[in-house]
Amino acid sequence: MTNPIWFDPTLCLIGDRWLPAPDTLDLRNPSDGSTLCAIARGGPAEIDAAVTAAQTARDGAWGAMTALDRGRILARLGQLIETRIEDLARIEALDVGKPLTQARADAQALARYMEFYAGAADKLHGQTIPYLDGYTVYTLREPHGVTGHIVPWNYPMQIIGRSVGAALATGNACVLKPAEEACLTALAFAHLAQEAGLPPGALNVVPGLGAEAGAALAAHPGIQHLSFTGSVATGARVQAAAARNVVPVTLELGGKSPQIVFDDADLDAALPFLVNAGIQNAGQTCSAASRILVQRGVYDRLRRAMAQAYADLTVGPALSDPRVGPLISARQQALVQGCLDQGRDLVIAAQGQIRADAPKTGAYVRPTLFADVPPDHPLAQQEIFGPVQVLIPFDGEDDAVAIANGTDYGLVAGIWTRDGARQMRLAKRIRSGQVFINNYGAGGGVELPFGGTGKSGHGREKGFEALYAFTQLKTVAAFHG
Ligand code: NAD
Repeated sequence: MTNPIWFDPTLCLIGDRWLPAPDTLDLRNPSDGSTLCAIARGGPAEIDAAVTAAQTARDGAWGAMTALDRGRILARLGQLIETRIEDLARIEALDVGKPLTQARADAQALARYMEFYAGAADKLHGQTIPYLDGYTVYTLREPHGVTGHIVPWNYPMQIIGRSVGAALATGNACVLKPAEEACLTALAFAHLAQEAGLPPGALNVVPGLGAEAGAALAAHPGIQHLSFTGSVATGARVQAAAARNVVPVTLELGGKSPQIVFDDADLDAALPFLVNAGIQNAGQTCSAASRILVQRGVYDRLRRAMAQAYADLTVGPALSDPRVGPLISARQQALVQGCLDQGRDLVIAAQGQIRADAPKTGAYVRPTLFADVPPDHPLAQQEIFGPVQVLIPFDGEDDAVAIANGTDYGLVAGIWTRDGARQMRLAKRIRSGQVFINNYGAGGGVELPFGGTGKSGHGREKGFEALYAFTQLKTVAAFHG
């Protein structure tokens, strides 16, 4: 197989130059544990240089560019991404362990984010406000300035698309810190952005460790907005650092999302959504539906159907495009294995199989479905971030709502019922940022505002809503008599 990495992965993009950091880190291939390549170990000095380059762009050509021209560059970038889908997918499969089909879908989503935000760039505008006699009052939507983007390893392309795409569309200059476990498509994206004609400094990329490059970015006084996706603990640290500089933060911190299946649901339609939302990306998905709440009248039937689906799941190396790939790292594998050990007192309804040809050195775990799980069991409360789902029986609507709302999180929920009135009632009563009725995930939903409540975080990304998050409002009051 030819190497799909067409660029030098050991460099950081700062302004218009690709520069080495003083040290490098090894990137691992989770499918077999081998070393994939070296990447830059950027630190405070590289972050500082990147922020300076972004400030120069903000005060220069990038800051002066019209919304129309910004949109045209993003449109070109989206088209360039389209021409490299296969390379991007292979890179992501090697780096993250994503099955190729999922990696291709992520690359398509990245292109689609550019297309969406390209079109939106010149459609964002302020308002005029009726005011006192003799005044004309209007609002301007202006970029924050320099924005920091701290991205995790589970969906690098999708998260870069939604966050950097919206920030660039609104005229911010970005400093992107991808995850140390998976940063190659962030670098590929930056190369394509240069090719699309993005002015120097509008996008800067500094790979490195969270505690070094990440912490330096979160704490940098030259940043005017931070967007973070990752764990609750790190998100809280990023928010604390932002608070010291009094800058706004968007936090997307994962969840323990439920899908709720009522007795009158179309179970055949629901089944693929229920299973896929647990095992997609090996369960390393912030919006994974890790809890399946089932009304008692259909519980046994659905349990049997899901158990069969789990028994059919096979796990293998990413490039062989299995249904389930490896986890991101041996560390994540140990974390998920620890969770499975916590479920020793529970009933295992079914487990998938690791294929015999999967290297023993890969980060594989068996997808696992637990049945009859009490809602307060640790596995029904903690985010596992692996291919693990729990089945929880419930009696009526109130019971379902209490269980669904009974965790610290609130990111996404799914409701399966044919009863229209119940659909509307539950959509209001469920505490979460998105509610899907008789579907789950709506095919990715570039256009759909996304974000959480409670420990799932705050702020909204995706869709048009993100453009508000990446701008601030200025009110202009003119007295003319
Ligand atoms: P993490 O939150 O530590 O890392 C996410 C990003 O934050 C990475 O780019 C990392 O380098 C950076 N980072 C780490 N420490 C930082 C700091 N002090 N300041 C600024 N940035 C910092 O997540 P992790 O350790 O990679 O994964 C641990 C757990 O987090 C997972 O098991 C999972 O439960 C959760 N997680 C959630 C998401 C999500 O999409 N919500 C994504 C990844 C991980």
